[in-house]
This record gives sequence, C-alpha cells and structure tokens, in this order.
Amino acid sequence: MLTRIRGGMIATEEGVFPGDILIEDEKIREILEPEAPADDAEIIDAGGKYILPGAVDIHTHMDLEVGIARVIDDFYTGTVAAACGGTTTIVDHMAFGPAGCSPWHQVKEYHRLADGQAAVDYGFHGVLQHVSDAVPDEMARIAEEEGITSFKVYLTYDGRLDDLDLMKILDRAAKEHILIAAHCENHGIVTYRREQFIRQGKTQAKWHPVSRPAEAEAEAVSRLLYLARAAGEAPVYIVHLSTRQGLEEIRKAKAAGQKHFGAETCPQYLLLDEHLYDDPREGLKAIMAPPLRRQEDRDALWGALAGNELDTVATDHCPFTFARQKQQGAQNFTKCPSGAPGVEERLILLYSEGVLRNRITLPQLVKYACTNPARVAGLYPRKGAIQSGSEADLVILDPDQEWTMTTGLLHGNSDYTCYEGMKIRGAVERVLLRGKTVALNGQFTGERGGGQYLRRGRSSLA
Ligand code: MN
Repeated sequence: MLTRIRGGMIATEEGVFPGDILIEDEKIREILEPEAPADDAEIIDAGGKYILPGAVDIHTHMDLEVGIARVIDDFYTGTVAAACGGTTTIVDHMAFGPAGCSPWHQVKEYHRLADGQAAVDYGFHGVLQHVSDAVPDEMARIAEEEGITSFKVYLTYDGRLDDLDLMKILDRAAKEHILIAAHCENHGIVTYRREQFIRQGKTQAKWHPVSRPAEAEAEAVSRLLYLARAAGEAPVYIVHLSTRQGLEEIRKAKAAGQKHFGAETCPQYLLLDEHLYDDPREGLKAIMAPPLRRQEDRDALWGALAGNELDTVATDHCPFTFARQKQQGAQNFTKCPSGAPGVEERLILLYSEGVLRNRITLPQLVKYACTNPARVAGLYPRKGAIQSGSEADLVILDPDQEWTMTTGLLHGNSDYTCYEGMKIRGAVERVLLRGKTVALNGQFTGERGGGQYLRRGRSSLA
C-alpha cells in the first residue's frame, strides 16, 4: 500500500524544504519533488504544514512504582498521550526492583507491563541498583539478548551506586559499548538538607529546591564525567540537566577533549522556574528531582541548545494526580511523590516556546526531539529520520493554529499540566506510526498494543 504526504514543508535536522513523502507499507520509500507526477497512492494533504520525523522521547516513566506511590499512566495511557503529542517512540526508564534483585528482574517485569499495551513503539533502559560480581555480566547479556543497550544508574536515592560500584559498571560499559545514563545529584548534600529542614520544620514546597541545590547536580555531573574518563572514556549520558553549574561541568569535560558523553534537558527546566514553589499547595505539582531552577539556569540551558552544546530534550514524564497523590506532600514536601507529566506537551512546547520565540531553529527542534534521541538510543536511522528506508513515523504540524494548553485537551491520566493556561501557537495535526495514522486533530486513532518492542543497537555515544 502506498501513501503520499503531499504539499508540505519537510523539516529535518539539516533544514526545511518542500517535498512529498511516499510511504510504502511501514517505511518511507522516497522523498519526491513537490511536482513529481502523481502515482496511485492514497493522498494526505499537508499543504501549509510542516512534516517532522515522529518524535522520540528517551526519558519516560510509565507505570513506575516508587514505593510511596505508582505513577498514574500505564504503558497504554502514557503512550496514547505520547502519540497525540507527536511522539512515536519512547525509551522508558525502569523502576528499581526488589532489593538485591538481578537486572533481569525488571526487564521481565517491564515486558509484562508494556507488551500488548503500548500504543507507540517502545524500548527500555535497564536499571542497575546494586553491583554484585554477576551484575556486569548480566548487563552485557541483557544488551545482547534484549537489545537493551543502555542502563540507568542513580547517584542519589536508596538504589544509588557509590564510586567503586560505578567504576565496575563503567569499566565494563566501555568494553561492551553500553551507554550508562545517570541521575546526577550528590546524595550527601540532598540528604543533609532534607533532614535538616525536617528538623527545622521547613517542610513547605518552597524548601524543596533549596534542599537540592545546583551544587548537588554540578558535583555529581563532574564526578560522573571524571569516573567515565578514568574507566577509559566509558559512554555516559547525563539525564535531565537542570543548572548552569552542571552545564559548566559539561563544557569543562568537552574542553578537556572527553568524548563519548552526552546530556539531556527537559522542557520543565527550560520553561518553568522555582517561583512555582512559592505557593505551598500549587507548588506540589512541580515537586520533581532535580527541582525547577532560576531564570539564569533556564537562559543558560536555552543558550546551550542554541549553541549545540546539549544532545537531547526528553521529558522525564512521571505523572501523579494532584488531587490525591501529590497531596501526600501537603504537610511535608519530602513525602510528595516526585515527578510531573510532560510526554504529550514536549514537542509543541519546543515549537511554540522554542522555535517561534527564536530560541532554537526548527532544524534544531528536530535534532533535539527526534533525531538525536534516536541516535543516543541506538535507533537511528530506523527512527528519527525522514529518509528512504526509515520507518514512516511522521508528524504533520500545523503552524497556524492557536490554542491554550489545558488538562482537558491532554490524554494522560494526570489531572493537571504544569503548562496550564499557556498560549500555544502551532498544533500537532496528524501523527503516523509506521505509516498508520495514530492521532488526528487531538484524537487518538491508534490501538492498544499497536506499538512494537524495539531491540536497540549501540548508542551513537558508545
Ligand atoms: Mn526520570
């Protein structure tokens, strides 16, 4: 079966140009000149619209169990939201399993949660929550057998790894070309401040960002990068970078010639700031780790995107309900489940607030939200590209629509969005997953289980 997307402006990381896209079954067959003769394809009219590669979000937490709560989106509702927002591929970060479990435990658990449920294509990052003699071998075997070629480590929380554990993992990761994604916050700084604030009765939301200062991120980013170098330039990926100070550590490592590392930021660190915590009730919506930062951090992160110093923009989609789950923190921010929704909002926020405000270009948006995430995850050019042979995951974006972001228009299970009331220019009109329309004008048209599990190749950073 042939489908031709006709009359649009194709946006890639290289540029924006007029062209038609001919899809045969699940793949892009070729890019045609706009005036190329008609064929017997079914026509999708994209006149006046942009056509982007389906967006790739390599930091989500569907169906995540965090002990004090479980996120409100499972792999179905979360990927319906993803699809409606133009994201056709996710790579999900697993929850920790039972204490002492093998990394295989959560691999099996996540197949149980996602297989037959996900509405967009999906992969997993493994998680390493302790390091026994067996763990590095298991990591290598999971990469081979499951196509899970990246693993997450935490430098804070109960499942954190210390420097010795990290060295054991990084040394093996360097040899196996496995990417280690890291949550970088210094555990001592955060724990000391949280315990101190609880003793002092400083338990309102406004103390949350103070308990996780920029120094905690910068120290952990710096340490991770030095450890990776010491392990022979192990490939590492810094998730959700939030501060100017953390960015400075990345610049230092680059200036020193270090390769095989990358960094991600998220829309919330670009668009929201810590003043949201001033309201003790509303502030619970934005309790997340790392916390929202200051204007100067936002400016620094936008500048880094404009200057091509970062690799990706992902979401850290980790939704809870405000009415119920977030209220666990009403008297004490340390009891509030940490995280916020965002998988559906990301692409259009980057267009409306990024491209149209001249903070980044449209090709940069494509690079950060579609193409580089596919590269980092080992999915390029199968995903994230508009070229012959790539899977026909495409977004038709209407630049002329104006609307107001509000929870009722979104598809996830959370009862709020951090961007409520934001004026948006541009809208995701149609989304194709492997040639099939899975979202049209804000309605989900795909199916439960329509997403395929992605066995990934090696990361471009490895
Ligand atoms: Mn996360």
